[in-house]
Amino acid sequence: MPNKLSDKTYRYLTNMGVDIRPNAIVKSFNRELVEFASGESERVSALIWTAGVKGELIGGFGEQCITKQQRILVDEYNKVHGIENIFAIGDIAFMQIEKYSGGHPMVAQVAIQQGKNLAANIIWTIKKKPLRKFKYIDKGSMSTI
Ligand SMILES: Cc1cc2nc3c(=O)[nH]c(=O)nc-3n(C[C@H](O)[C@H](O)[C@H](O)COP(=O)(O)OP(=O)(O)OC[C@H]3O[C@@H](n4cnc5c(N)ncnc54)[C@H](O)[C@@H]3O)c2cc1C
Repeated sequence: MPNKLSDKTYRYLTNMGVDIRPNAIVKSFNRELVEFASGESERVSALIWTAGVKGELIGGFGEQCITKQQRILVDEYNKVHGIENIFAIGDIAFMQIEKYSGGHPMVAQVAIQQGKNLAANIIWTIKKKPLRKFKYIDKGSMSTI
């Protein structure tokens, strides 16, 4: 999400009394005591863990195709790095371009638009026509808290 939305969310939740700990790595939690990787621990009455989700990788791709965030490295046509005829789209795909140096946001619109672009490219491939690079059209973001 854009920084502006993150900042607003941070303020909103803090005003509600939520104690937000960005970048705190949780080691364990046993309903009362939360232990952080830093060695600190704290008693809490409720813990909301927002570490996100991780892609389900399929084995068999070489390590050169997998990024640190466990996403599959693809080129601008969503073709898996260094492999012919295998494509990855959506959350699992990591396409690094200047505007999205950290990859595209893992949101539904990226997955939908990459799906449409790839479907068209497969048809162009069969027709031996030039392929179209993926270009994300950002329709804006909304977060519901
Ligand atoms: C809690 C939450 C809230 C979100 N809110 C928003 C939002 O408000 N707006 C927004 O735009 N995006 C939101 N997202 C992100 C959005 O859901 C994803 O970006 C989008 O679903 C990505 O689509 P995808 O097709 O890449 O992956 P997915 O929708 O995750 O589809 C992948 C599918 O592959 C299946 N699968 C996995 N492994 C295998 C396997 N080995 N064999 C067969 N099938 C397999 C999974 O079961 C799943 O059905 C949210 C995500 C989460 C988790």
